[in-house]
This record gives sequence, structure tokens and C-alpha cells, in this order.
Amino acid sequence: METWRRVIADSITTPEELAECLDIGPGPLAPLVRRYPLRITRRYLGLIEKPGDPIWRQCVPDPLELLDDQFPDPLDEERLSPVPGLIHRYPDRAVWLVSNECAVYCRFCMRKRRVGCPLAGGGEGFWDDVLHYIKETSAIRDVILSGGDPLLLGDEHLESILAGLRAIPHVEIIRIGTRTPVTLPERITARLCRMLKRYHPLYVNTHFNHPREITPEAIKACARLADAGIPLGNQTVLLAGVNDDPAVMTHLMQQLLAIRVRPYYIHQMDLVQGTGHFRTNVETGLEIIGALRGHTSGMATPYYVIDAPGGKGKIPLLPDAVEKWGDTWLLRSFRGEIVEYRDR
Ligand SMILES: *Cc1c(COP(=O)(O)O)cnc(C)c1O
Ligand code: SF4
Repeated sequence: METWRRVIADSITTPEELAECLDIGPGPLAPLVRRYPLRITRRYLGLIEKPGDPIWRQCVPDPLELLDDQFPDPLDEERLSPVPGLIHRYPDRAVWLVSNECAVYCRFCMRKRRVGCPLAGGGEGFWDDVLHYIKETSAIRDVILSGGDPLLLGDEHLESILAGLRAIPHVEIIRIGTRTPVTLPERITARLCRMLKRYHPLYVNTHFNHPREITPEAIKACARLADAGIPLGNQTVLLAGVNDDPAVMTHLMQQLLAIRVRPYYIHQMDLVQGTGHFRTNVETGLEIIGALRGHTSGMATPYYVIDAPGGKGKIPLLPDAVEKWGDTWLLRSFRGEIVEYRDR
């Protein structure tokens, strides 16, 4: 068995195991885990330093998950699926949910409604339908593999998907969204990277939420991908009690750039059922962007986006909405000064 598969097989999936590792009572965990599945790799669990810390909050089930009464699918992803497993919301790009499995089930997941469940409407049975749809839809030039985590598929599975996409001339770029560099760095093998680099232009967006996730193993995984010529981006979710602090977020963004990972998005928490205890207000996000922009490398400054409910798409928020007075734009510099600007 490949090492990463052994790591998954050895991960924590039951309330009893978790309770034992954390030295807590398993009682409250049981109903939670029946509703939303549990999986934590031992490596990720080992990053916890104390109860309720940023790593704990991301992976240990919290009874508050059962109290939150938002919607399972506020972004209307199911409605925007022309074929099961494909989300086609923007004209020229589509998201293909190729896996429902992850190495760690993040408690704040936007696809909480489906991760860890059998791959209904995303299974291999539909792969031909998805490929057929993409082939027939010549406007799609960018395909994003997501899930779950696409890298929980084996190399051969993944390669058959990539080869299927590469056989379609109008698919210019392929992106893979994966948290495995953080949660399962063993997955980023030399063999995987040799395979991936045959399908360029290929981009990988990873998902670090806290500086403590940038471990020596995660750094090595990112270096392997970057050395295969794969540009790396990062999507962070703004999470209460994890990274809702300008100093923590600045440190995270700077450390990511230092390992050749370009911060791409900070996501406002979606209004997904079971995740309310992670949601911050928008002012918190604006304050963080205000602390980044101009104060550190532009390359370390991602877009702060709200994915608008109802599938209206990601909307970037800037702390300084521009204003126009007559023919003059009033711009706000990162120091807060008003700058007058005229087009000519
Ligand atoms: C985020 C997202 C994309 C990709 O958006 P980019 O801004 O190009 O990264 C595409 N489709 C869906 C449904 C998305 O949620
Ligand atoms: S790795 Fe991504 S898809 Fe999987 S549980 Fe975490 S946030 Fe959800």
C-alpha cells in the first residue's frame, strides 16, 4: 500500500478514538459524527497545542454544528449543475467535484452537505457525462477539479481525468484545489508530480488557514509541486478563533509567499449550515485586508471575497470603495489618506 493510503487508514474517524486522543468524553461527539463525518490524520491532530486552539477548532467537531440553522447549499451549487458533479456558474470555467473524500474533514467546510458521503452524483458513473458536457460547451476554457479533495484519488484515477480533459482542445488550463499539502503531505509524491507535469498548464490551489500549518512536511510538499513547474496559489477561509486577526493573517500570507505559494483568496465564510460558529463579520475581513494592503508585499495580498448567496459569484471587497466627485476620483491610500485622481 502507498504510504499516504496507510496514513488515511490510520487516521481518526470515531468519537471513541478522538476522545481518547484528546482526553475528553466521547458523549457529545457521537451525534455530531453521525451527522457530519469525522476524519483527522494523526499528523494534523499532532499540531494541536491546547484545547480550542486554531488547529483544534478546524478539525474537532463542536456541538454548535448542530445548532446552526443556515442552508446546506446557499451558493445554489446543485441548481447550477448541468450534469451531476459539475458546477457551471461562470461562462468560461467550471468546477468538477471529482471526490467526496478528504484527509481531514474541516468542520467549516462549505461542502459540508456532501463531503465524506458516498459520491452521489459525482461518481465515476458520471465522468463520461461530465467530459461530454465540457466537450460540447466550447466556452469552458478553465476546469477546476475540486471535491472533497481530488488528490484523495489515486494517481491512475486522477490521470484518467486529466487525460480526458486534455483531449478537449478548448480546455486551456486545469486547476486542482487540494488541502493535502497541509493535511496529508505524504500524498505529494515524486511520482504524482512526474505525472502532473505532463498535463501543463496545470495550477494547484492549496488551503492553509494558519501559520502553524506551515510545517516542514508541508513546505516540502509545496516545493515538490513548485519544482514540477506548477504555480501554487492559496485559498484561506476567514475563521473565527483561527485566523480572524490581522497579525496572524499577515504572518500566514508572508510565510506562504516564502514557500512559493501565492495568496489568492481570503474567503468570507459562506452561510453554510453547521458552520455558524466560524463566521466573522465583514468588518473583520476588511480590517485584515487594510492591514495587508501596502503594508506588505502586494504578492502577499489576496482578494477578500464574498461568494454571493444564490450563485451570484465571488465579489471582491476593498476597504476603500472609491468615490467620484464630478470628474475626480477620490481614492484612499493604504495609510487612509484621500488621493484625488483625474483620468486626464
Ligand atoms: C470559485 C469558483 C470558480 C473559480 O473562480 P475564480 O475566481 O476564477 O477562481 C468557478 N466556479 C465556481 C462555481 C466557483 O465557486
Ligand atoms: S479539505 Fe476542503 S473540501 Fe475537504 S473538508 Fe476541508 S474544506 Fe472541505
